[in-house]
Amino acid sequence: MTAQPNSVEARDISYHMHSYTNARRHEEIGPLVIEKGDGIYVEDASGKRYIEAMAGLWSVAVGFSEQRLVDAATRQMKQLPFYHNFTHKSHAPVIDLAEKLVSIAPVPMSKVFFTNSGSEANDTAMKMIWYRSNALGQPQKKKIISRKRGYHGVTIASASLTGLPNNHISFDLPIANVIHTGTPHHYRDAQPGESEEAFATRLADELEQLILAEGPDTIAAFIGEPVMGAGGVVVPPATYWEKIQAVLAKYDILLVADEVICGFGRTGSMFGCETFGIRPDILVMSKQLSSSYLPISALLINDRVYQPLADESNRIGTFGHGYTAGGHPVPAAVALENLRIIEENDLVGNAKRVGAHMQKRLRELADHELVGEVRGVGLIAGVELVADKATRAPWKNAGALGLLVNGHLQENGVISRNMGDTLGFCPPLIITESQVDDMVAAVKKALDASLPEVK
Ligand code: PLP
Repeated sequence: MTAQPNSVEARDISYHMHSYTNARRHEEIGPLVIEKGDGIYVEDASGKRYIEAMAGLWSVAVGFSEQRLVDAATRQMKQLPFYHNFTHKSHAPVIDLAEKLVSIAPVPMSKVFFTNSGSEANDTAMKMIWYRSNALGQPQKKKIISRKRGYHGVTIASASLTGLPNNHISFDLPIANVIHTGTPHHYRDAQPGESEEAFATRLADELEQLILAEGPDTIAAFIGEPVMGAGGVVVPPATYWEKIQAVLAKYDILLVADEVICGFGRTGSMFGCETFGIRPDILVMSKQLSSSYLPISALLINDRVYQPLADESNRIGTFGHGYTAGGHPVPAAVALENLRIIEENDLVGNAKRVGAHMQKRLRELADHELVGEVRGVGLIAGVELVADKATRAPWKNAGALGLLVNGHLQENGVISRNMGDTLGFCPPLIITESQVDDMVAAVKKALDASLPEVK
């Protein structure tokens, strides 16, 4: 694309450095400028309409035109546009939201701590875990185990938890006290003929060996997404979470469930923890909490975590952590209204029903010459592309086929995202079966259009 001088595209190239973008390539091709949203659709500056098959960044549960969220924000802006929760201050939106989150938590939880992004929330989780170990007189208990291909954000601590090379290379990460264990991806990482259960047993054994090698009294916590998102939509093999949790319990290790993508219906239950029988001590949430209309994230913590933190804050004189906008009343009011919409419209049930349809329809593509695996649960799925089905080899270099097919898909009016060679599908929870059919038809067309270029 050559941007016209002074066009919106040219000004974007001139002034705006993008997240998760090759900056030099951006100078050449410029942006796709999105101007408006309507339900599951967004429209670009030229008037072309797309199905937003990633719900933005896995996050816009209620779609892109929910007036009730606009009204909730407006009401709160008029009533009290800002207040905070430092030094004993509070306000109704955070109190209501905290109460609501504790009431819907998948396991008994004690308190909610508010932050602004998934990264900040995971950073906060790590700080709470360290603070707790000190409070308990276990200063050596500081290591956190995360997983290769897990995604937990991009701050210095949360990027360290993330197990993806692009979040570490040239950033001098990960920091100390973060270690990574194996990815529960059966298609890529299981041995030939290994069942899902046997693979899960092997991963749990690997985790136990890692804990023993590091010293069990040095390991404070394990963090994982119920379903890995940015690592390529990895659904764990049968019995995985049960076996991992048995190892953690044996060595008194806390479990942090990163529900930033899975939370609020994505997997067909309110939380991914319910779908997979996960019983966390800390549950991290963001994204669909407010449908991303405004930034907000939160940590639900149980008494195992809260009580030592409270004692330590009393000993020191304060819990010296918190963000100016953590617990901001406007995003909190939007989150509350968003949760009402999710409940009143049974969007969790919709994710289960329409999700089953999406999984079935996408799996019909598994026979395509360029498709290696289709995986997913509820309204989240990954379609992994291969140049050779038998060897599972990529085309050219890893990620090239993902980019190619994703490009054709966008031409066909569907916005997906390629994580390497896996295309992600994570549409708004309001999507209907016929809209899923439109989306899958476009994916099929994009695969067919790519085939002659590959073979
Ligand atoms: N955790 C998970 C599972 C995520 O998917 C993300 C973002 O995609 C994050 C954490 C980081 O959230 P944020 O981008 O709001 O910092």
